[in-house]
This record gives sequence, structure tokens and C-alpha cells, in this order.
Amino acid sequence: MDSEAPQVEMVFFPFVGGGHQIPMIDIARLFASHGAKSTIIVTPTNAIQFQNSILRDQNSGHPISIHALQLQEGAVSPDSDMTATPATDTTVLQEPLKLFLIEHKPDCIVFDMFHRWAAELFDGLGVRKIVFNGSGCFPGCVSENLRKYEPHEKVGSDYESFLVPGLPDRIELTRSQLPIFVRDKSGRFDKKGKDEDKSFGSVVNSFYELEPAYADYYRKEMGKKAWFVGPASLCNTDVADKAERGTQASIDEQSFMKWLDDKETNSVLYIGFGSKPRFATGQFAEIAHALEASNHSFIWVVGKDFKDEENCLPGGFEERIKESKKGVIIRGWAPQLLILEHGAVGGFMTHCGWNSMLEGVCCGVPMITWPLSAEQFYNEKLVTDVLGIGVQVGSKEWISFKSEKKGLVGREKVEVAVKRLMGGGDEVVDIRKRAKELAGKAKKAVQVGGSSYIDADALIEELKSLKKNVN
Ligand code: UDP
Repeated sequence: MDSEAPQVEMVFFPFVGGGHQIPMIDIARLFASHGAKSTIIVTPTNAIQFQNSILRDQNSGHPISIHALQLQEGAVSPDSDMTATPATDTTVLQEPLKLFLIEHKPDCIVFDMFHRWAAELFDGLGVRKIVFNGSGCFPGCVSENLRKYEPHEKVGSDYESFLVPGLPDRIELTRSQLPIFVRDKSGRFDKKGKDEDKSFGSVVNSFYELEPAYADYYRKEMGKKAWFVGPASLCNTDVADKAERGTQASIDEQSFMKWLDDKETNSVLYIGFGSKPRFATGQFAEIAHALEASNHSFIWVVGKDFKDEENCLPGGFEERIKESKKGVIIRGWAPQLLILEHGAVGGFMTHCGWNSMLEGVCCGVPMITWPLSAEQFYNEKLVTDVLGIGVQVGSKEWISFKSEKKGLVGREKVEVAVKRLMGGGDEVVDIRKRAKELAGKAKKAVQVGGSSYIDADALIEELKSLKKNVN
């Protein structure tokens, strides 16, 4: 590295909730660990959530800080009630962010694409912008070729499968698995990617070895300038960082870890559906029946919005699993990274959110895929059809954050998937082997000399040289 060069100043502007915010905080920490002066812009509400990790990084000498935006009097922070979704309007942050940028003039701002107004502001101020879209290359390529070839327009029904043309692998989907805005051509589909096209590039939470053919396709065929710097979660090396990631876990950690320590290797199924688990009425009961029938140990994160009257677990279920020590239910936030890396955890039933999927990969845990929304049906295909590290539960219906919840998956299907992955047959031996190999590649990617390490340095160097040219 060039020691004469001035320090690069990067600003990170994460979205205001869960699955997009967590990795961007990690990415900011990652760039700080590479020597870039990193500032994370947050709302007053979420400043508290990350400050301990950031403090620990500062104590380790990393040049990182948090800047909480001061909202105008009477303005309500978009995350004040902790219910933000990708559709949440964050325009109220615009003015205070503008003032910050005018004063600080950073070398770039890495911003979440869900701040829909932001690209225009940065252009107006002449701030170099780098997009973060929270996802990987594979879903980006699927999405691009659906837009380009519209194969879903050529099938006779929502449940007839079609091939996504032009991809390195044979990827099949049904129209029922596509986001509504892809099916109805509402325009959002076209807008997606536009910010990326007009920016300096994008920072991707992925690593080259996970999806080499798609990383190449993304760069060469789709013409994207992108730095693959992940898996971002691997910057959490401290147990405290893992335990508090996103928010404080809602469990008694010691007794919980003791419960896990007493279990055999690969014997526990971890069930988590992201930062906002939500299902059709009756789905939780189907899962509970399947778990009891399969007789495997499990940890199940039902989330903080879980209501007994709505979700109706079978009578006596919780008492039975507690008494038999078969299962633990978490009614709130789980320390997902700590759980996944525990040797007793041998399977991850996941909604295929990009972060959860990557975290499963990093820990070498095979998956039962249960996509629900966003680009999760594409991610499922990466896990099962491309990487061969999971089995599908058989989810067929894409559901939006707003729409009525549908697409119940029956207990029989759930039981079959659980037994298939946790039962330990020949198929699973191969799946586990592939998952472990991939975990090794993930760790290597972020170490000195690894592909993601090199990419992160490359971005910093590029920003440095641009800075020198201006000075
Ligand atoms: N997460 C967690 N504990 C929970 C639920 C979620 O730590 O109880 C974290 C998880 O580790 C991941 C993120 O929240 O980093 C969820 O992101 P993902 O992309 O998987 O799903 P989303 O919430 O965006 O649907």
C-alpha cells in the first residue's frame, strides 16, 4: 500500500432495518479494518444498536465512527417504531444528511438502494456514490435475465415452470415464485439497477468463490463495476459482537449455550426466517407438528411479533419440547451467528434471505430452503441447484410485505425435508461435505490475500488515486 497517500474517507448510509442494515454496518467495519476512515450514518434511534461493536473496533485502533443524524424538530425517525420494511420512506433523513456531506466531503458514500431519493441528492452534491443492494450476483443475474427475456410471459399458468435463459446453469422457476413487481411490470423492476448503472460501482456482500460464474457474468455480461468484499459477517470475530449483532438477543445466553453444548454434533436444526418472520395463519402449527413428528432437536426463532392466539401452536407443544429438552423457542431476536457456528447445529431451515444464506455458508451448515419474499426464491436455487448444499421444503408462493399471507406448506412436506436433511443418509453426507468446503473458501476469501480482501483493498486504492489526482 502507498503510505504517502492520504487516508480515504468513506461514509456508509445503511437502510433503517434488519437484513440490509446489519451487513452494511459489517461492511463499514470491514473497510475500517482495511484502514479507510469509515463513518456510519444512522438515525438517532438505531445509533445505540451498534455502538458497542464500534467501540470495540475503535479500541482496536480502527478508524471508525457513528454519526447520528439530527432530525428537524417534530420529524419522526422512520425506524422509531422498529417496523421499517423495504418500502419505508426515509426522505426525512435527507436534509440532515445533506448538511453532513457538505461539511465532510467524503471520498465516497456507500448507500442502500432502498433510500430511493439518495442517488439524486449525492449527484447534486457531487459526492461519489457506491450502491449496496443487500444481495449477491446470482440473484442479480436471474433478475436481469428475467427482465431481458421475460420467460415468465410465455408460460400458461403461474405454476408451470420455465427456464431462465442465458445463465451459466439451468435455473427453473415458476411465475408464482416471482416478485409481484416482476410479474406486473409496475416499473419498479426497471428502476432496480438504475442507481447501480449511474454510480461509481457497487459493493457486494459476496465472495468470488461462492458464485464465480455469476460474478463473471455480473461484471462482464451485465457490465457492472463491483467489489465483492464479503461475507461481511466474518468481520465479527469477537463473541460479544456475534451475540449482539443487530440487537441484543432475547435469550438467557448461558443456559441456552449449555443446552446446545449438551447436544451431539450436527444433531440440532436451527429454524430462523430473518429479521421479521411472518407467515400465513396456521403455518406455525404445521411446522410444530412436523418437528414433533421428525423427532429431531431444534431451535426455532418465532420472532417478537409472534402471538399465541394467532399462531396457535399445538396444545402442550411448548411444555413437551421443554420437558424432553428437544427444542427451544426464541420469541424475539436470536444470536444467529453464535448458533450457526455451534458444532451441534447441523441444519438451518431458512427463508433464504441473502444474509442468512451467506451466514449458513460461512458456518458450513446445510440448509432447508423455505423462500418467502424479495429475491429469496432465486437464492434458493443457488443453494440447492448450483451449490448443492441444501434441500427445498417446496415453497411455491412469493408473498409481499403488504399482501395477505398465503402459500401454506403442509406438515408432511416440512417433515420430509427435516428428516431428509437431519437424517444423515448418503445424500446428506455429500451435502455436508460441500457445505464444509464452501465454509473454508468463505473464510479464506476475507483473509489477507483472499479474493474479498483484495477487492476491498482495490476499492480503497482506487479512491486514493482519485483523491491524489484531485489534490
Ligand atoms: N438475525 C439475527 N437474529 C434473528 C433474526 C435475524 O441475528 O433473530 C440476522 C441474521 O443473522 C441476518 C439478518 O438478521 O444477518 C437477516 O437478514 P436476511 O437477509 O437473512 O433476512 P431479512 O431479515 O432481510 O429478510
